[in-house]
Amino acid sequence: PVVIDGRELFVTVSIGIRLADPSCDGAGDLMRDADAAMYQAKEAGRAGCSVFNDELRMRAEWRLEIESDLHRALQRGEFCVYYQPTISIEDGTTAGLEALVRWQHPERGLRPPGDFIGIAEETGLIVPLGIWVLDRACHQLRSWNDMGAGPLTMAVNLSPRQLRSPDLVDRVAEILASSGIPPERLCLEITESALMQDPVAAERILAGLKSLGLQLAIDDFGTGYSSLSYLRRFPIDILKIDQSFVAQLGSDAESTAIVTSVIHLAKSLDLATVAEGVETREQLSQLELLGCNLAQGYYWSRPVSADDMEVKLKMSAPAPAPSARVSCDGKLRVLVADDEASHRAMVKRILERSGYFTIIGEAGDGQEAVQLAEHQRPDLVVLDLSMPKMDGLEALPRILALSPDTKVALLSGHIGSAQLAEGASLHLRKGLKPEQMVEDLLLVMGRRTSSSGRRELAQRHRYRCP
Ligand code: C2E
Ligand code: CA
Ligand code: CA
Repeated sequence: PVVIDGRELFVTVSIGIRLADPSCDGAGDLMRDADAAMYQAKEAGRAGCSVFNDELRMRAEWRLEIESDLHRALQRGEFCVYYQPTISIEDGTTAGLEALVRWQHPERGLRPPGDFIGIAEETGLIVPLGIWVLDRACHQLRSWNDMGAGPLTMAVNLSPRQLRSPDLVDRVAEILASSGIPPERLCLEITESALMQDPVAAERILAGLKSLGLQLAIDDFGTGYSSLSYLRRFPIDILKIDQSFVAQLGSDAESTAIVTSVIHLAKSLDLATVAEGVETREQLSQLELLGCNLAQGYYWSRPVSADDMEVKLKMSAPAPAPSARVSCDGKLRVLVADDEASHRAMVKRILERSGYFTIIGEAGDGQEAVQLAEHQRPDLVVLDLSMPKMDGLEALPRILALSPDTKVALLSGHIGSAQLAEGASLHLRKGLKPEQMVEDLLLVMGRRTSSSGRRELAQRHRYRCP
């Protein structure tokens, strides 16, 4: 330690190494490459050394190349916006979307923001790019709202450089006006470290943004050494818990403690919490126990293109008014949930051919089945027992909670000796004869009253009288 003004300072060294070889064209090249290796050592946590290698060489080359390409990319319309849903942990519905930029590079394909945001930030291009993303995302939200996708919130990332641009508040106000979305439906995400670069200036700009009526979130919370007193001074609505802590929830005591404290802190300051990077059922259960409000991650969906998101949103569009629930031709409205498309198609064919049923939706996993059931309120769900993300037994109580009038028939490869699951009306075996399946379903739906049929059915599968 070195003592300066009574304070102990610790000095560390980060070293970049370049081995001289014939590909090296003089001292200038050596220094440049060693410099790149040194930055790599710093990125890896400092106080270490890093040797220049092929990966670093490719990064350096990519960097040189994209610096010039990046400027043209915006004019040429090579950027696009992907969307990832934010899910309400309480009821599993989609509460909003986060806009995440991508670069459709003419030669190198679709590039993630990690490849170019840093350089865009350094060159200042992030300012027009960020405004472009905001504009796209807001207009997109408007069109999805018009489509009837329900009240969704759009989250857009703001970079440190944008935060310093003098006309930011005016530009955001213009985009809100031209897109016509309610201001409270827009959430701007700012990283903790961006706020801490100049907290006094940040406080002023955040106040300006907040006066437009939008929401503000601190992104990557827990990574930026913010002073807790600033949390009170900044007009913040949401804390987004960084995915590095979420990833280790349950397995690492420290991460678990951090997530627990952040959620408690947020509650006491009356802020909502969003957990980032949720990938497993276990992480979700932990977050639910801790009382986290919202979550986002591969567990539900990766970020997807606007077209793909539109398909997802249409599939879960709100149901028509309850009076319109029984389809006009008197058919029973069925949702089929099975991860195998061929099984779905088979059930669909059998039920539709019978003339008694109409298929109003199909789901490829349990999570999707729950969402669709909530919105569509089907008369019947044919639910596969084993599905990814959420199996039938887990989806069953959720479906019944969200749509209490729905009957659920569990579909499985075999019928075990287990009792009929709580709440289910019927166990159907895959491979059952089509006419038998139709008859059995009509019985549980109360469209057949033959008592002998019911007895027979009760013997054949586990079945609960309607
Ligand atoms: P972020 O704001 O923290 O966004 C979340 C990132 O985590 C996204 O990466 C997303 O794809 C990824 N992610 C989501 N769920 C999971 C998961 O379950 N597991 C894992 N491993 N990752 C998950 P992406 O799209 O590559 O974006 C990276 C970062 O680039 C963003 O981090 C954000 O800081 C920045 N960024 C993206 N779009 C923009 C933009 O329009 N403007 C600015 N300034 N920054 C942006
Ligand atoms: Ca973000
Ligand atoms: Ca984040």
